[in-house]
Amino acid sequence: MKKRIAVLPGDGIGREVMEGAVRILKAVADCFDHEFEFTEGLIGGAAIDAKGNPLPPETLEICRESDAILLGAVGGPKWSDVPTDIRPEKGLLGLRKEMGLFANLRPVTAYQQLVNASPLKREVIENVDLMIVRELTGGIYFGKSERRGENNDVAVDTLQYDVHEIERIVEKAFQLASVRRKKLTSVDKANVLESSRMWREIVDKVSVNYPDVQVEHMLVDSTAMKLIHQPGDFDVVVTENMFGDILSDEASMIAGSLGMLPSASLRSDSVGLYEPVHGSAPDIAGENKANPLAMILSAAMMLKYSFDLEKESRAVEAAVTEVLNDGYYTSDVGVSGKCIGTKEMIDKVMDKL
Ligand code: ATP
Ligand code: MG
Repeated sequence: MKKRIAVLPGDGIGREVMEGAVRILKAVADCFDHEFEFTEGLIGGAAIDAKGNPLPPETLEICRESDAILLGAVGGPKWSDVPTDIRPEKGLLGLRKEMGLFANLRPVTAYQQLVNASPLKREVIENVDLMIVRELTGGIYFGKSERRGENNDVAVDTLQYDVHEIERIVEKAFQLASVRRKKLTSVDKANVLESSRMWREIVDKVSVNYPDVQVEHMLVDSTAMKLIHQPGDFDVVVTENMFGDILSDEASMIAGSLGMLPSASLRSDSVGLYEPVHGSAPDIAGENKANPLAMILSAAMMLKYSFDLEKESRAVEAAVTEVLNDGYYTSDVGVSGKCIGTKEMIDKVMDKL
């Protein structure tokens, strides 16, 4: 199968970890007889330096012509003084919006070898395998914001969703749950917010089409508690933008390190953007210290969700698990074992693959 992949390494450790993802994907193409065509584009600080724009039109064009997008990370102290409208992060926000990527998927898996890296107890996080599905292009982060009053002493943010925006994210979550353990937790604040009451109605309506998926509604505050107390009870969790932002960072601690967490941003067709949850980590950039596994696992998500290559995706995940089982870690993971660098970690995964 032939696929076009946009490669946006971005800044800091983005470049180092992207090298790993591309090497792994080339190996997958060879092993399984696929053709992947990679086209590199500039984004974030690198694009500001070269073009004065964190999302140059030519990058957007590359992405529009691709079947999927891989992104490293954007930003860093070098660009802390550029005007707010051309900050590196604007490049990524603009890309998500332009591409209409409304569903952000963050799987959280507790790897056996890494349970000691988590601040939570082994018996609590053992066997955790959950997926947070966060609405990414609506809600309070995109509603009207303003200052009012004679002295600008009133600040307003607006949380607004229309039925269509909720339906499409909820539909996505049901689809995911139906091919996983068939449990969906919908998170809201329906005891207070009108948008949450509408959210619940829509979840109940869509659930009729997925009779084999067990649905529960949970308030966001009790969800925050339960993620620490009994994370093993969750399968797919679907929620609006801000709740998802907060809960997914909370859930990330289960995995032990930011360097282990992949993500996908999807829309209704098969096009998606795949990136590690972590940022550009300027403190370790260029030192061969970055954990490349979040980026490599993001590439595995791309194989599965954009290209429907389940077997290939599982092969990459299995290679990662085997390297961890052999006791190899990068320095971010903080467990005892054989600590290796970024390049060496990529080599290990390549060997296993
Ligand atoms: P952003 O605003 O872009 O999300 P951030 O300020 O949240 O960035 P990160 O860049 O994600 O921060 O880094 C947070 C900390 O985690 C840093 O100390 C960094 O070195 C470490 N870190 C992040 N990603 C990795 C990785 N892949 N490997 C090793 N350490 C990492
Ligand atoms: Mg961050």
